Amino acid sequence: MNTKVLKVSDEGNFTGEELEYLKEAAEILKHGGLVAFPTETVYGLGANALDEKAARKIYEAKGRPSDNPLIAHVADFEGIEPLVSRIPEMGRKLAEAFWPGPMTLVFPKSALVPLGTTGGLDTVAIRMPSDPVARMLIRLAGVPVAAPSANTSGRPSPTRAEHVYQDMEGRIEMIIDGGPVGIGVESTIVDVTEEVPVLLRPGAVTMEMLESVAGEVRVDPAILGPVSPDLKPKAPGMKYRHYAPNADLTLVEGPQDRVVSEINRLAAEKLLEGYKVGIICTDETRDSYPAGMVRSIGQRAKEETVAHNLYAVLREFDDLGAQYLFSEGFPADHLGQAIMNRLNKAAGYRIVKVWPEAEL
Ligand code: AMP
Ligand code: MG
Repeated sequence: MNTKVLKVSDEGNFTGEELEYLKEAAEILKHGGLVAFPTETVYGLGANALDEKAARKIYEAKGRPSDNPLIAHVADFEGIEPLVSRIPEMGRKLAEAFWPGPMTLVFPKSALVPLGTTGGLDTVAIRMPSDPVARMLIRLAGVPVAAPSANTSGRPSPTRAEHVYQDMEGRIEMIIDGGPVGIGVESTIVDVTEEVPVLLRPGAVTMEMLESVAGEVRVDPAILGPVSPDLKPKAPGMKYRHYAPNADLTLVEGPQDRVVSEINRLAAEKLLEGYKVGIICTDETRDSYPAGMVRSIGQRAKEETVAHNLYAVLREFDDLGAQYLFSEGFPADHLGQAIMNRLNKAAGYRIVKVWPEAEL
């Protein structure tokens, strides 16, 4: 299959030519094909969410286990009702507060949604993205669009069209290139099927933001640590190794100066053994690492820059052939919760904690 790449601007005022591109993409979706497209979180791999056969193609293209459910993307509020059997009050409140935007809600599903897209669950995950390209494409397709991240299963999510091309070339009909995405980590997922909403995956709609609207919000234990193989997590994706670079990643947490010296020590050890070593640091600490391949992930003082660059840096180290990676940790509140959730998983929860000198 020849994968067509079409460029559109992400401003939302499309030229006639860009609209023709998006119509061509919408036709592919209507006819059961696959189109990758930008959203404000990461690039999505889209298919008609009501077409079980099309959903099966997503699983094949990604090499994703088929019990890992897909998120249905809609362009407007009218798109939701046909997909759900009821809209719980808390779901309505959160939707009104944060849609369109980087939040996914899990509802009880209607009969219209095939089990082939929900991994056999009787619930459906729905998101209304704010990205103008995504919204126009979904509107033109006239169907809800199932769209997991457009990467090979287990690799870091794509935040640029080039990342999608690396993983999906020859496997899908089309890639819409709308430039780099804004946020860079996947949507916040909240289950609203029970009385108290449950956070299933942290994202740019933060825990603090959810609580400001919903009051009490519970956190699924799978967010906080490794999931035992016999546990059946509510967000089935969480049991799979996710967001993973090729290299062995270790996180180092603690006070900044101690973190820097520990990473330098660990890196020097591996360099001496002859390995290719990468260091994930921040603009603030960039000059404190004399050895290894050093990349800044963003500004510690601006968490959104860290979220934005996270997956691109992990992919760059894959391309550079890094065998061992050492990364600074981040405070796990606000957007930091999503950042640390992804870094923890990428590291397989390999974490080194260092303490202030005084406490040693
Ligand atoms: P993504 O990789 O961004 O497509 O995210 C898909 C993830 O959304 C899955 O791996 C699940 O964790 C979650 N998800 C999708 N549908 C449901 C659902 N019905 N119930 C719970 N979690 C879901
Ligand atoms: Mg994914």
